[in-house]
Amino acid sequence: MPARAERDRTVRVGSHELRVRVQEPLARYTTFRIGGPADYLVRASDRPTLELALEWAEQERLPVTVIGGGSNLLVRDGGIRGLVIVFRAAGEALDGAIQLAADDGATMLTLPATAPLSWVGHRTSELGLAGLEWAAGLPGVVGGAVVNNAGAHGGAIGDVLADVELYDLVDRRVLHWTRDALAPRYRMTELKAQPRPRRYVVLGARVRLVPGDPARLLRTAEENARWRRQHQPTGPCAGSVFTNPPGTYAGYLIEQAGLKGFQIGRIRVSERHANFFLNLGSATAAEALALLEAVQRAVAEQFGIVLQPEIEIVGEP
Ligand SMILES: Cc1cc2nc3c(=O)[nH]c(=O)nc-3n(C[C@H](O)[C@H](O)[C@H](O)COP(=O)(O)OP(=O)(O)OC[C@H]3O[C@@H](n4cnc5c(N)ncnc54)[C@H](O)[C@@H]3O)c2cc1C
Repeated sequence: MPARAERDRTVRVGSHELRVRVQEPLARYTTFRIGGPADYLVRASDRPTLELALEWAEQERLPVTVIGGGSNLLVRDGGIRGLVIVFRAAGEALDGAIQLAADDGATMLTLPATAPLSWVGHRTSELGLAGLEWAAGLPGVVGGAVVNNAGAHGGAIGDVLADVELYDLVDRRVLHWTRDALAPRYRMTELKAQPRPRRYVVLGARVRLVPGDPARLLRTAEENARWRRQHQPTGPCAGSVFTNPPGTYAGYLIEQAGLKGFQIGRIRVSERHANFFLNLGSATAAEALALLEAVQRAVAEQFGIVLQPEIEIVGEP
């Protein structure tokens, strides 16, 4: 791999400059700490930088992949061709970017795609707006949460979503999808169902929240975050590997199959929560996929149920 300085490049886009990283390991941008290199990578924490990066990709005819917190991804060892844009920001920087508007007793909130989900859960609770307390403690940002219809503790972002603002990479224009067009269901949306490279970039989301007591909402948010710390493993992982099959839990089936602690190479089924795989340090995507398939096979043999990945597997082998 070239040295850091050689991997940093400044390119010109019209009259602007853009910092691009070349052959950048994606393991640095995923919570699994796994993933081969992106040909090119831009970190964008605001819309002007995103627009510049998209313009550069068009100029260079590069396919574009946008990621957020990288917390629902398994990037294969061959990495991702073209330009990867890491579109995320620190919550504190976004206070001014959140817009509020009254709506018939409720409040419409416009959230940037870059906003960290956990921060949104805490901040809306502080503001006395109910509907996103479940998000406290969840990794990732609003963009990724919209794509995956992230949720926990009985709530999901799709429950409060009014519409999403998208950029269409084919027609090169901004458009809006209503909640109906997005069709959020259990860890799935019409955006997630699209083939790669994906056509749409999430720019923001409008959610409809109802008034609540800030002290009570904050207490719930804190309890949710604490529950997570107590019940989920810490360390490099990508959250639940599989979706829950109807009427049962993936973690329960994996545990019943005797696979808690089962390990291939440097990746292991968590002892604390069997639906989490832990990277024990420098695991490869090939090892993660081998473990995923071994678990799938064992559960299918014992219970006749084929577990479906919740994490998205992307990139080249
Ligand atoms: C410890 C842990 C616990 C977790 N617990 C939960 C849980 O309880 N419930 C739950 O639902 N999830 C959970 N997750 C998974 C994950 O945190 C969520 O799904 C999260 O919303 C993903 O957001 P992200 O920004 O990390 O998305 P990423 O992983 O970066 O991306 C996910 C998908 O969205 C796309 N994407 C991201 N941003 C954009 C954008 N702006 N425009 C277009 N496409 C975009 C990516 O290309 C990818 O297809 C957990 C993960 C971890 C590590």
